[in-house]
Amino acid sequence: MTPEEGLRRFWGYDDFKPLQREAVQAALAGRDCLVVLPTGGGKSLCYQLPAAIGRGLVLVVSPLIALMDDQVAAAREAGLAADALHSNLDAARRADAYRRLARGETALLYVSPERLMMEGLLEDASARLVLVAVDEAHCVSHWGHEFRPEYRKLADVLERLPKAARMALTATATPEVQEDVCSQLKLRHPARFVGHPDRPNLIYRAFQRRDQLAQILEVARRNPGAGGIVYAQTRKDVERIAGGLKRAGVSCAPYHAGLPAEERRRTQDDFVNERLDVAVATIAFGMGIDRPGVRYVVHANTPRSVEHYQQESGRAGRDGASAECVLLFAASDLAAHRALALKDGPLAPERRQAIERQLREIGRYAVSPVCRHRLLAEHFGASYQGDSMRQGVPGCGACDVCLGETRSLAPEEALLTAKKILSAAWRARGRFGAGYVVNLLLGKADERMKRNGHDALQVFGLLKEAGEQAVRSWTDQLIVQGFLEVAEEGDYPLLRITEAGQALCRDEGTVRLGAPAPQAPRSRKKAKVSGRSVAQGQALDEELFDRLRRLRRQIAETLGVPPYVVFHDSALAEMAALKPGTLEALREVKGVGDRKLERYGAAFLEAMRGSGLNIQQSGSPQSLNPLKVET
Ligand code: ADP
Ligand code: ZN
Repeated sequence: MTPEEGLRRFWGYDDFKPLQREAVQAALAGRDCLVVLPTGGGKSLCYQLPAAIGRGLVLVVSPLIALMDDQVAAAREAGLAADALHSNLDAARRADAYRRLARGETALLYVSPERLMMEGLLEDASARLVLVAVDEAHCVSHWGHEFRPEYRKLADVLERLPKAARMALTATATPEVQEDVCSQLKLRHPARFVGHPDRPNLIYRAFQRRDQLAQILEVARRNPGAGGIVYAQTRKDVERIAGGLKRAGVSCAPYHAGLPAEERRRTQDDFVNERLDVAVATIAFGMGIDRPGVRYVVHANTPRSVEHYQQESGRAGRDGASAECVLLFAASDLAAHRALALKDGPLAPERRQAIERQLREIGRYAVSPVCRHRLLAEHFGASYQGDSMRQGVPGCGACDVCLGETRSLAPEEALLTAKKILSAAWRARGRFGAGYVVNLLLGKADERMKRNGHDALQVFGLLKEAGEQAVRSWTDQLIVQGFLEVAEEGDYPLLRITEAGQALCRDEGTVRLGAPAPQAPRSRKKAKVSGRSVAQGQALDEELFDRLRRLRRQIAETLGVPPYVVFHDSALAEMAALKPGTLEALREVKGVGDRKLERYGAAFLEAMRGSGLNIQQSGSPQSLNPLKVET
């Protein structure tokens, strides 16, 4: 079987995604390689395909044990002879897996790093072994953000399997980490397949935080019934936001380290199995979660760095369908991160500088009125030309700036506005906080301001017309761009003008300011579930889509697997748009391979004919019997 035939037969896809073909070919030729593709780039197919088309045994080493069983279930649903070996497995299942391995039946074996080190496994495996894939390969590097000591020993094990090709895969790797991965894993003259970091199916939005709950609700209401993650900074924030969303009728649950383990496990489980729409969580949530159809990720607070933002927001839209990532920014978040980093005493100067740089970068991302796809791509060292596919909209067509929800002030207007704010800060002589200076500009005098005689200053009320939201936002933008700074003195953060700010007042330097567009077309866009089929002009039948999702959930519950293992949202969306009436037509839908057609085809055809859903399972979950629908 050729790779192309395998792609179609097992996965129901017609074309490879970028660099998949190259990675598969390298593996089949016995060549070591490094694969760097963004989340959702289709990394797993690179090592699963050689196993699927019968070239021998493929070992997959992954640190994410929690995901392995679902990965195995998904591979089996596609028709692969897959197994996993890890410490959470009970004795009977482990014995089964070993027996299938010894008999030479296994094509794809997931193993935890610890298991791989054990004797016996390698002997059983080595004769048929063609490829060892190391997933999350950045974990091997000290330079990466998730270093795992047990990964360091992998190289020794690999040395004992000299005949197998090696494939290291990761989503995030700076050139430094790439080098380190190749040398730590002793890759031999590896081919390097490094994809573009951009995620074109994600719509990025970054707004000044005004009314946190209302802004989050707006996103949830734009995506009714869809899966979403809301990240918040503290447990208290998590509880408050979850409470607010629940009161507004959103299906959601809180998730943070302070909750009992049992409750956390249930929330994860409900979320993955689509019994729960929204998880409101601290960043602890996500590592062990596999739900490719997450339609939005909202950051209620600013994350620590662009790297963190990329990783956390990247949990949206992993199935490749359209999804949105919204960041609610306030400059005070950056101060909170700084305080947290320093709470155990002063840091080494290099560390401190690194933190300051990261905070500056994420702040700049959040407030610059510049295409966010471009800012992210450039941050990760790639250039960005915009997406010419989205016609009629300038730039990427997929961020608040390019969609016209945030406008950029004309250069003269930006400079004049900045000067007004800077001179107010100058007049306040660095003895007051940002709130005071904003009120000064708005002409809102309290007792203290009157006592200070500041209500008589020329700058008093100078930006009254612009409104509080805009003035706050501009002040934050000037902080992020380094024209103002917040100095901690005692318990009180004071706003000060910097040297760059003084220079700007003398017309030296340039400033960019953004503001919400007059009527931001906020709820205009309902997130599309399938970029492609909708783009081709077929309208998605929402009612049918919901019906298909319900069927999928019933089947998944019967089988005891997460819904995406049955079909991805994108496949359902294509069905709901194309409405195939025969098995042959259904086979043309992307994501419908031979085995899934055989097992679920009839049930989904029935559902599309509009009959009632009553699923009956025939045979055991692992058997090849089709599922029957009773009407
Ligand atoms: P990654 O591990 O890189 O985040 P996955 O392997 O989970 O990505 O794949 C992401 C999504 O892309 C999955 O829904 C997968 O089924 C889909 N996919 C993979 N390869 C293709 C392809 N050639 N064509 C269409 N979809 C694909
Ligand atoms: Zn853009």
